[in-house]
Amino acid sequence: MVGIAGSFPVVRSWHALPVPEVLDALDVPPHRGLSAAEAAQRLAATGANTLPDAARRSRVAILAAQFANVMVGVLFGAAILSGFVGELADTIAIIAILLMNALLGYLQESRAENEIAALRAMAAPQVRVHRDGVTLRIPAEGVVTGDLIKIEAGDVVAADLRLIASAQLRVAEAALTGESEPVAKDPAVVAEQAVLGDRRSMLYRGTTVVQGRGTGVVVATGPRTELGRIAGMIESVTPSPTPLQRRLAAFTGRLSIVVLAIAAVVLVIGLLQGEALGLMLLTSVSLAVAAIPEALPAVVTVALAFGARRAAARQALVRNLPAVETLGSVTYICTDKTGTLTENHMRMRTLRLADALDVDHPTSSAVPELLGVALAISNDVESARTGWQGDPTEIAFVERALERGWDRRVLAPEWPRVAEVSFTSERARMTTWHRHQDRVIAFMKGAPERVLSCCVPSPARANELDQARDIASQLASQGMRVLVFASREVESVPPASGLAAAEVGFGLLAVVGLQDPPRAGAREAVAECRAAGIRVVMVTGDHPETAEAIARELGIVDGVHARVTPAEKVALVAALQARGECVAMTGDGVNDAPALKRADIGVAMGRGGTDVARQASDLILLDDHFETIVGAVHEGRRIYDNIRKFVRYALTGNSAEIWTLLLAPFLGLPIPLLPIHLLWVNLVTDGLPGIALTVEPGERTLMSRPPRRPAEHMYARGLWQHSLAIGMLMGAATLATQAYALTRGWHWQSMTFTVLAFLQLGYLLAIRSEIDGFYRGFFRNRALLGAVLVTVLLQCAVLYVPVLNRVFGTQPLSVGELSFCFAVSSVGFVAAEVEKAIRRWREPPDIADARGAAARVEIQ
Ligand code: ADP
Ligand code: MG
Repeated sequence: MVGIAGSFPVVRSWHALPVPEVLDALDVPPHRGLSAAEAAQRLAATGANTLPDAARRSRVAILAAQFANVMVGVLFGAAILSGFVGELADTIAIIAILLMNALLGYLQESRAENEIAALRAMAAPQVRVHRDGVTLRIPAEGVVTGDLIKIEAGDVVAADLRLIASAQLRVAEAALTGESEPVAKDPAVVAEQAVLGDRRSMLYRGTTVVQGRGTGVVVATGPRTELGRIAGMIESVTPSPTPLQRRLAAFTGRLSIVVLAIAAVVLVIGLLQGEALGLMLLTSVSLAVAAIPEALPAVVTVALAFGARRAAARQALVRNLPAVETLGSVTYICTDKTGTLTENHMRMRTLRLADALDVDHPTSSAVPELLGVALAISNDVESARTGWQGDPTEIAFVERALERGWDRRVLAPEWPRVAEVSFTSERARMTTWHRHQDRVIAFMKGAPERVLSCCVPSPARANELDQARDIASQLASQGMRVLVFASREVESVPPASGLAAAEVGFGLLAVVGLQDPPRAGAREAVAECRAAGIRVVMVTGDHPETAEAIARELGIVDGVHARVTPAEKVALVAALQARGECVAMTGDGVNDAPALKRADIGVAMGRGGTDVARQASDLILLDDHFETIVGAVHEGRRIYDNIRKFVRYALTGNSAEIWTLLLAPFLGLPIPLLPIHLLWVNLVTDGLPGIALTVEPGERTLMSRPPRRPAEHMYARGLWQHSLAIGMLMGAATLATQAYALTRGWHWQSMTFTVLAFLQLGYLLAIRSEIDGFYRGFFRNRALLGAVLVTVLLQCAVLYVPVLNRVFGTQPLSVGELSFCFAVSSVGFVAAEVEKAIRRWREPPDIADARGAAARVEIQ
């Protein structure tokens, strides 16, 4: 039987075939891997290694959603009905406005959808593939059948693989089989009838490598993988609304009931006053459509998506939208040390040899053979075209060894590795066994206490282990990362089952100190967090004294947790959350996933971390830097502020419209506005400028005020009272215009209409900042100024273009009338500015900051 039919491998029992036959069937040169050309050809034939993305909404679905709205439906109905009884032009105009509104919504939402898709693509995993004899990193979606893939602990398997080599490989297959215990994997042939969970020679897409390393050949990609077959079930989970959206939807629901009641009142009063039924029905429905902020949840999505995009530009990749809003209320950042707060460029600074521990040998060439070999080969560093690849700690050793003449590339084949116990953060050490000539030698390196506990002192120096311990702690207190090297010659290679028991009786080789300086910029970011009421805690697997020395340099005062295991990270997050804190926690290892999931914001590393950590995270730091978390918090706070500004704007405007329509009959005034005016004001003049609020730059005090309470409502801190009051004032201004124009015999309805529209634009200019006067940074958001200008021009068009006069029932205003409108329209602007000025006077922002800081100190 032949493995490739067309370009599709026929479904077959790869697990039961010996490796050479598998490679043969897939037509793969064993050591070189596929050629680039062959891979490209196969990719073209079989398609990308991706699963259909059911989460993405189609254009049609987005467009349909714009109309799937009860009130809009009712209005359509009412418009058509009134077409029969009254003016057909009215009907057409109303429908045109509704279409315009739907188009605006559609454009916004599909742009948001694109942003989200772009972010998802940025988060796509990479794989290490062996082609043309070299190993390269490529996006997982470019993998084809027959590719040789290298995997290691922390990877999420990108395609279905038949193993061809492995070392201590263990894989968690819960995603596929539901079995939570990791299973051991190796290339040995498995019985043909074995079920999925027993096929130990296979690795499946979506499972996670928890330990060891291996190489496999791809036997299936994309929808043809085992996961792909059940992808319909797994990946079609529709994204659920964010907490903010849920709360807003509930709020809108309650508000709708109130608005409908008011619309009913307006209807009844109108009828009692003898207005026509058709007109009154349309008026009250238009009022309901105009005043119910049903677009709010959609605007939130748009704002969050753009926030996520901006965060990505600052190297913080948001994996799920709700994280953007959660970021704004983070009170604790628990961060890694290595690479995040430090440069992760390790240099060996100190070398203390076992036979003369008190002499520093930083540059001595007298490196004993065993130590030289250990430095060079007891690690997983790989030599790549661009230099060494792997763990920076290990690269530091390899580089130093090379300077002393111990070349990894030469020594590794002479000292083949025959067994190993790999490094994990929990163990904090690593042991490898090598065959050399006819001896078997083991090397161990790791955290001083973890290695020294496996050592016996040499007969000649009874206290050498104690002395090594002292020196290690001395070096650590200088901020160095300290490791101990040890070795042992054994009779034979220990059996796979007895490796852990074989980590005894080692002899000390050396104590080494590595230097990894704090990153430039990290100190400032820590200070920024303190000013923002966010506590920074260092959580590291490193030695307590090393950690403390670095923390001191960085100004971290809120705590250091050293030699922390992943399980302890979970406990730390849980303890903080129990105190009501909102916690961001970083992690990079295989076992960090539970802590990242548990944290309010799980933060993974884009460069150094593992796939497993990344897939459990909410936020990926593309540059691994601490400052990036702080930048993301900044963005989160800004976006939340801006959404709140939009809500304020929409609520106040709606309340102004409601007051106007509700109060007019009580004051003995005719219905102030036609239905089409209401719709125009609300859907057109409101929409564009309001959305521009979401790109307003951050407030001056953004990072000098305490975090928002996570449970805080969008309309908390007096927002709805403000909207009701200012709305009433704006309604009063509108009605006063109407009444005065009536007595003067002016074009009262066109004036009332124009005042209501301009009032909201003026108000918009005043609420761009919650604290500062409008004049501060007036030009910082040109989109908003542009939108205001366009809207004013549109309104003028409605007043002065003859065709539109007929559609809107308007008349051209005289210069005097228009000036009057502009003057009255400043009421909302002035009121909002005065309110801010009073607040600034009662509680200057800088004093508020100081008080916030005092409160924070108190909590400590
Ligand atoms: P960190 O939080 O600084 O990244 P890790 O969990 O990576 O800490 O490492 C914990 C300790 O394990 C280190 O202080 C070091 O002593 C030891 N260690 C780190 N890397 C290795 C390695 N590749 N091999 C052996 N030991 C290591
Ligand atoms: Mg580490």
